[in-house]
Amino acid sequence: MPDPTGSPLGARDRGLVWHPYAPLDGPEPYAVEGASGVRLTLTSPEGERFEAVDAMASWWCAVHGYGNPVLDAAAHEQLGRFSHVMFGGLTHEPAVRLAERLTAMSPGPMAHVFFADSGSVSVEVALKLSLQYQAARGRPRRQRFLTVRGGYHGDTFAAMSVCDPVDGMHSAFPGVLARQLFAPRPPAARQVTTSTGDERWETDRSALEIWAAEVRALAATHSDELAAVVVEPVLQGAGGMHVYHPDCLRVLRDVADEHGLLLVVDEIATGFARTGRMFASEWADVTPDVMCVGKALTGGYLSLAAVLMTREVGEAITRSEFRALLHGPTFMANPLACAVANAAVELVDSTWKEHVPRVGRLLAEHLAPAADLPQVLEVRTLGAVGVVQLTSPVDVVPVTRAALRRGVWLRPFRNLVYTMPPYVCTAEDVRLVAEAIVGAVAEVHG
Ligand SMILES: *Cc1c(COP(=O)(O)O)cnc(C)c1O
Repeated sequence: MPDPTGSPLGARDRGLVWHPYAPLDGPEPYAVEGASGVRLTLTSPEGERFEAVDAMASWWCAVHGYGNPVLDAAAHEQLGRFSHVMFGGLTHEPAVRLAERLTAMSPGPMAHVFFADSGSVSVEVALKLSLQYQAARGRPRRQRFLTVRGGYHGDTFAAMSVCDPVDGMHSAFPGVLARQLFAPRPPAARQVTTSTGDERWETDRSALEIWAAEVRALAATHSDELAAVVVEPVLQGAGGMHVYHPDCLRVLRDVADEHGLLLVVDEIATGFARTGRMFASEWADVTPDVMCVGKALTGGYLSLAAVLMTREVGEAITRSEFRALLHGPTFMANPLACAVANAAVELVDSTWKEHVPRVGRLLAEHLAPAADLPQVLEVRTLGAVGVVQLTSPVDVVPVTRAALRRGVWLRPFRNLVYTMPPYVCTAEDVRLVAEAIVGAVAEVHG
């Protein structure tokens, strides 16, 4: 590692480089020396070395692990041809193949694909195209979005406007964000797999009915100004790892149909099997009009996202004054990213049914003891997601350290210690992750 100043990397980083949602003088970061399989090699600010299972899968992306031979080969092969070309007036095999693949595997009849360079940008594009769609249909005043509280859709301005208004940084930008319409957060639910393998959803039915009535009333009052419903299907991720009943998604589909709104599902976190279905919308048998995917799309190798839409949406925009979807990033459909995505998506397709339920069962089994800890409010799992929710905010620095000493990299937030591990974790890896979560919570918050 080049070290021109003789100081450790973390010390050189601190005060120079911004980190996500962190102050310049925040805790010194751990330095990554390598990443292989499901493990990171890290050095602490004090110079200690750790080999740790990445229980975060690099913010839910690295589902096939690091240095995956299939993904490495796809990247090398494309690198040998060309790594980037503009997408204006040009096309290439990796993009077309990926678009064919995504439309073929998506829930419902998705007919068109717009490639964006990050999840947030794909949400921007989805919101923009919803406005274009409404304008094309002679309803240009429909410029607001209906969503639910507790959501997270990205950090750019339009995406931020549909994030939870309390936890989603709205207070930092008063008067700047578009004012969207927020229904309550859908009531909590849990998905249980019975001993016979049947999958069942449980929730408080009367709470669900009350929620549905509120959503319907809100939509009815504001339908003239609404362009689309925007929502994370079944699992709200960064907004609190909150699981809700698929029936709530059906209600949103109905509301959208009733009032001529598009249903935009943000599958950036949930897509590619994380929740135990290829796409979380499938839990509800709901077909969206627009779908955003990202994160695991390239197996965590490169930044890429995509917006999928139905033929009807494509036709409306094509008939509009502008005829085009008004967006076009420099790195649109980056060939290297698309080539890796083709390999990653194919790998998910052929392996998730073997891995995701297995990882989920092991997480449920080994996280269960956390429920007995005094500071633990709830333990929940869905697909390959495991969440331990505390009664108070997590003390992040000591919990992170305590987990590292147990061989696991965690990044808790708010009152949540959670894992979205790589799908390729062995039974031993998953047990290590779960025991590190339980152990670290017991040690720091016991
Ligand atoms: C991560 C995430 C985004 C934003 O994606 P970026 O690639 O970080 O811009 C949007 N929506 C959901 C549901 C996400 O989890």
